[in-house]
Amino acid sequence: MKTLTVSVVTPDGPVLEDSFEMVSCKAESGELGILPGHIPLVAPLTISAVRLKNGNDSKRLAVSGGFLEVRPEKVTILAQSAETPSDINVERAKEAKSRAEQRLQSKQDDIDFQRAELALKRAMNRLDIVG
Ligand code: ATP
Repeated sequence: MKTLTVSVVTPDGPVLEDSFEMVSCKAESGELGILPGHIPLVAPLTISAVRLKNGNDSKRLAVSGGFLEVRPEKVTILAQSAETPSDINVERAKEAKSRAEQRLQSKQDDIDFQRAELALKRAMNRLDIVG
């Protein structure tokens, strides 16, 4: 089976670089399934899960947006953050989720709703990845 080199990079440094048979992710334009030989493309990613498959084995990462660059033999993901399930602190994500929910329910004028919505999405994505 042919493989692609997948590299995931965040501002904190590289998270992962390995070979996989398929990459599934959620771009702003919709779900993408990338196999070796895919046409080159660059796409913005949503706050979502990236799935990396090798036979029956698969790895999941929570990414909080960023960009995907595809070349026929390589996929690069540049994300603001990227965590595997074992990197995720569940308590921290639960606290971030309830903080964001409280902000969204607040009637105060000085609440930045868009910021709170994004924080809620990041926290829910992390909790989803953990399962
Ligand atoms: P918080 O409010 O808890 O900081 P956040 O969504 O605002 O959450 P980010 O700005 O997305 O946090 O991430 C900042 C850094 O903290 C990144 O390096 C990210 O990987 C890490 N991080 C955030 N939440 C968690 C978590 N629940 N478990 C592990 N690492 C986390």
